[in-house]
Amino acid sequence: MVEYGFQFFFENIKFQIVSAIILLILEISYFRRMHLPTLSSKIFTALMIFSGIYIIFDFLTVYAIVYMERVSSFFLRFTHQIFIFSINTIMLCLFLYVSISNSNQRRLKKRFTFIIFGLYFLSIIFVLFGKIEYYRGPDGIYSFGSMPYSIFAIATIYGSMTLFRTLYVALTNKNSFIHFQFRFIFSTLIIWFTVEILQFLIPTLLISNIGISNMVLIMYLGLEQPSAYLDQTSQKMNTNAFKQIIHEYKNSKTPFSIITIEMENILSIETEYGENIYTALIQKIANHIETKIKRPIYRLTDSSLSIIIPKSKKFSEDYISRFLQVLQEDFKNTWEIDSNRFTVFIHCSLIEYPKDSFIFRRVNELISFISNFNKYSEETSFIRTINKKIIENISREKTIVKIIEDAIKEDGIEMFLQPIYNIEKNSFSNAEALVRLKDNKTIGFISPEEFIPLAEKHGLITNLSDKIFKQVFSFMSENKLESLGLQHIEVNLSAIQSEDPALPLYIQNLLTEKRISPKAVNLEITESAAISKNNLLENNIKAIKSLGCSFSMDDFGTGYSNLSQIAKVDYELIKLDKSLLWPCFDEKNPDRNESKIILENMINMILKLGKKIVVEGVESQEQFEYLKSLKVTYIQGYYFSKPLPMKNFLEFIKEKN
Ligand code: C2E
Ligand code: CA
Ligand code: CA
Repeated sequence: MVEYGFQFFFENIKFQIVSAIILLILEISYFRRMHLPTLSSKIFTALMIFSGIYIIFDFLTVYAIVYMERVSSFFLRFTHQIFIFSINTIMLCLFLYVSISNSNQRRLKKRFTFIIFGLYFLSIIFVLFGKIEYYRGPDGIYSFGSMPYSIFAIATIYGSMTLFRTLYVALTNKNSFIHFQFRFIFSTLIIWFTVEILQFLIPTLLISNIGISNMVLIMYLGLEQPSAYLDQTSQKMNTNAFKQIIHEYKNSKTPFSIITIEMENILSIETEYGENIYTALIQKIANHIETKIKRPIYRLTDSSLSIIIPKSKKFSEDYISRFLQVLQEDFKNTWEIDSNRFTVFIHCSLIEYPKDSFIFRRVNELISFISNFNKYSEETSFIRTINKKIIENISREKTIVKIIEDAIKEDGIEMFLQPIYNIEKNSFSNAEALVRLKDNKTIGFISPEEFIPLAEKHGLITNLSDKIFKQVFSFMSENKLESLGLQHIEVNLSAIQSEDPALPLYIQNLLTEKRISPKAVNLEITESAAISKNNLLENNIKAIKSLGCSFSMDDFGTGYSNLSQIAKVDYELIKLDKSLLWPCFDEKNPDRNESKIILENMINMILKLGKKIVVEGVESQEQFEYLKSLKVTYIQGYYFSKPLPMKNFLEFIKEKN
């Protein structure tokens, strides 16, 4: 005779104990941390709550059956009702979570709401009125009857729908994040189905809890990872979290505003006081803002904090503008960190959805826009909004990027050459290659000064430079430049390119392929790029110089005028920027003489360092004569010639040299 006492009870809760421990740890860790205010996150919270209820009632149902004689029949039925009800709710949550976290909610509403909630309603009817009987025997316990069976069937339908939904999304979507999610959800469901089938075949094996606890575990670690949304520095939300929320609000067509608080001098505080002070300051400010607005804070860039505010009665336009006023006042006070006092200067940018929806097409674009707001805006007020100028700038940028992309694909650039006059030799011994876009129709002429930085920003510079170099090198190999009296062609390197570790080999290969002498190639690096902190550039210069090419420091006088740099790195040529020359001849400049003193001494000093000098932007005979008297080596400017198409350049050289 089996005794239905504690020993028997314990035999029947072995699996539940393991599951309960897993769930307890997950529940504690989940409810102690912050959550994204997204719908999918709320559904996950519901899933966690019902998993807790589920496991508690799993124990209670076993207790009730084992001690059938001691408990009331109401208790016996009630514990089972809650237990069974929670299973179905968990499966519903799982389905909703999967559907909402990666799809358009509207579509979900239309197609599935009826089936899903119809089934849910049905399950409640069965829970309330279904029949349930209990088995207790030496081999164990279980329940049966229309209530558990129907619920089991409905849970299976939910499970299958989730599975098909996941499969469908994974098959129709190229987004890698969805594929990543898919793996977790798929394995979750496979475990769940296996466990449920086993449970069905061997009813006394009470293991359905293993299916549930595993499901929660995998979902929690795989999808709702605590660290995935945390910004380590501010201890607030990171870019991932931001993307998730924007994605969800956009899908549900919720109107919202993004307020970004740009801290103008925070990076110089970091440079001066170090990372620890910076971190503490950011945390203090983020906490302060959070307590004021009571919304999650996102840190998208090193110098800003953002808030997303869905439009509602509470968060009206008035509310937002009052909040910004309060912020403006608050930031007039100093922040104290380790007895240092800091004043942080701020301004705010305000973006609204759907009003400004054109910048919301891709979340990455939106983030890049937020971090570059100032560059587009040209405003100086405390609160900066999307104005006409910004819209124009953005659309211009997009057009230019498109033109560059097309130019790369379809041979859309043309290299011009500007002759450089050699005073000693009284001939044009060098030339600078300058890129032009062939497309002059779409928005007219675009200066390389504008499109080169955009090519850098949008990751197009390597491909563009490849076109530039190939055109210039082909020109050099097709024409015998030496016999025309030309020593070298100067080619500009963009800042990013000059630090690309692949550059030396690229140039070496191209020199070999086009059979040109390295001596005929001079590479220009702008002064501001030359002062970079790392030694990638220095290594590149060394490697390329060892091939036989020479270097020029371009735009000298516009950067930080780091004179020691000239002496240290081996630049054969220093190109003085026109901004050093022009003020010397500007009638309106009262300090003309001072400008001349600076220029003359600069030239003297560079000559004494044994470097040759090119002066750029020489436009008049007067300027030319003056520079000649200062023993400058080379002259480049409209006085002799504008940059010319290759054909015209050859004619020019043949005529003059
Ligand atoms: P940069 O390297 O300083 O090039 C000299 C610029 O001054 C050229 O402008 C040239 O046309 C202009 N210039 C020359 N002489 C005179 C003059 O007497 N008066 C005036 N007002 N201007 C003169 P451009 O071709 O518009 O190029 C602008 C900048 O774009 C270049 O400045 C360079 O930084 C960049 N760039 C041009 N071509 C390339 C290229 O192939 N690769 C890279 N990475 N950058 C390029
Ligand atoms: Ca140049
Ligand atoms: Ca220059």
